[in-house]
Amino acid sequence: MIGTDYHIHTHYVGCAQPEMTIPAILEHARRVDRTSIAITDHCDTPGRLAKNRLIRDELERTDPGELEIFFGCELNIQNLDGELFLSPEQVREERFELVLAGVHNTWFEPGEATLTQIIERQIDLMCKVASNPMVDVLVHPWWIPASQFKRELADKFTSLEQVPDELTHRMVETCNEHGTAIEFNVGATWGHPHTSDEFKTSYTEYVGKWVELGAQVALCSDAHRIERFDLLPRGEQVLAEIGIPEEQVWRPQNEPAVVGSKVITSQEGCNE
Ligand SMILES: [Zn+2]
Ligand SMILES: [Zn+2]
Repeated sequence: MIGTDYHIHTHYVGCAQPEMTIPAILEHARRVDRTSIAITDHCDTPGRLAKNRLIRDELERTDPGELEIFFGCELNIQNLDGELFLSPEQVREERFELVLAGVHNTWFEPGEATLTQIIERQIDLMCKVASNPMVDVLVHPWWIPASQFKRELADKFTSLEQVPDELTHRMVETCNEHGTAIEFNVGATWGHPHTSDEFKTSYTEYVGKWVELGAQVALCSDAHRIERFDLLPRGEQVLAEIGIPEEQVWRPQNEPAVVGSKVITSQEGCNE
């Protein structure tokens, strides 16, 4: 039993559904038998940073009970150099306990690049993310930005067998070298309703390659809506079928320190 989900969005930032309140997230994480989770909303602009402070405030006042809950964020690379919006100092100051990062853009204009060029660029950018010492988890490999790809390339990019093994090795080896885990993203990539069965099957084999190459794998939902939590048990089963060793299941090394840190116990509340 893996029991994790280290990639969850909230209603605060506005990308997720209004139903993604902290109490609802906790309720549904427990419903699908999670034991360790992280709240990780987007944090790529000053406005989103301010929203993340509101999330932290609520989490500080939330009693986690038996559930282990971390406070983290999801960053997007800002340019072709792979730069991120936050510095390591800011991550510390804002008390983020884990940093997810990934590729949400390739900076190709529609029609400008071939599938091979897009695949090579995605790998290049993912390696830049994975090499950043601040990043704990490389999120959603091959999540395809709809605006750039889906219309033009959906028919051409149908299977991860189209990604040359050599490039997959490069990505996993870069992650291993820098201690960066790779996300098995069940909600936005593998299990997304728009993902074809062919792509899904090839994705499962692809995750098997990461495991074979010794990667640390983080099981996550990337939930923007409650129903995405329901994909976690199936994702967990897939990892079991692949035969992932326990030591390759990624978990944060630190104890959570933010969630519940300002919960007032009833005893304290009685002080005069
Ligand atoms: Zn993302
Ligand atoms: Zn996300």
